Amino acid sequence: MPGEFDFIKWVQSQQPATTLVPVPAGDDLAVLNWPAADLLLVGVDQGPRRGSLRFRGPLPRQVGRKAMNRNLSDCAAMACLPAAAVATVAAPRGVGADYLRELYQGLRDAADPFGCQIVGGDTGSWAGRLVLTVTILGRSGGIKPLTRAGAKPGDAIYVTGPLGGSIRGRHMTFEPRVALARELATAFPLTTMIDLSDGLSRDLGHVCRASGVGAIVYADDVPVHADAVEVARDGRAPLEHALHDGEDYELLFTVTPPGPTAAATRVGVVTPEPGIWIEHAGGRREPLEPKGWEHAL
Ligand SMILES: [Mg+2]
Repeated sequence: MPGEFDFIKWVQSQQPATTLVPVPAGDDLAVLNWPAADLLLVGVDQGPRRGSLRFRGPLPRQVGRKAMNRNLSDCAAMACLPAAAVATVAAPRGVGADYLRELYQGLRDAADPFGCQIVGGDTGSWAGRLVLTVTILGRSGGIKPLTRAGAKPGDAIYVTGPLGGSIRGRHMTFEPRVALARELATAFPLTTMIDLSDGLSRDLGHVCRASGVGAIVYADDVPVHADAVEVARDGRAPLEHALHDGEDYELLFTVTPPGPTAAATRVGVVTPEPGIWIEHAGGRREPLEPKGWEHAL
């Protein structure tokens, strides 16, 4: 695309070499000095999703920030440290260099607080909407990566914050729980962890399926965000929004009891038999169907 060379030159000017990245973006490949003791964790995430990254939607800087934060949230889910990222942009034809610089700045807004460097990428333009794809490289940094498999019957199920109604704005502005994930993983015998991108009902389903277990969620214990109360004007109860909305980017984890008494809320228990239930006050149970966001193929 016109001006691509200038853009790459500009990106290079933003990136001093560091110990981890002696050869940053701008050469054919970036070179990373990977610590020998660390496992490498890799993930990739492609926007837009749910139409939320439209060209004429949020500002490019916000879009860049969210795209990076989604990847950082996946690092949190595995309790690893974000180390470096590469990003590719298919920009709507006709956007200028300012738009690309704003996107890049958004990526940096999210990555910089974690010391995560953007070490490479590629840009192009096409007739479609913006597609921004970020690949993240995480390092284990002394903590065994937490997966979705490993929950045992009797484990307690926790979430790290109130849920629901993120569409009112938190889906763009959330803070990935990287530091909290590592604190919890260090202090408690966590058995699984996942970030709540698809909604509690669906993400808990991912954990139960991977672990070969079931779960009971106690309705009265689910922390409901004030945003869920606001969006409940649509007729669905705030609890329904908390269980199914998604894009909260809090963490859900299982832990050998008793588990933490601060920084996270206990919402349920792992059961040996498969199936996920919601238990209401008085003991009435009904199946907790996954109604959260299902990614289109
Ligand atoms: Mg995730």
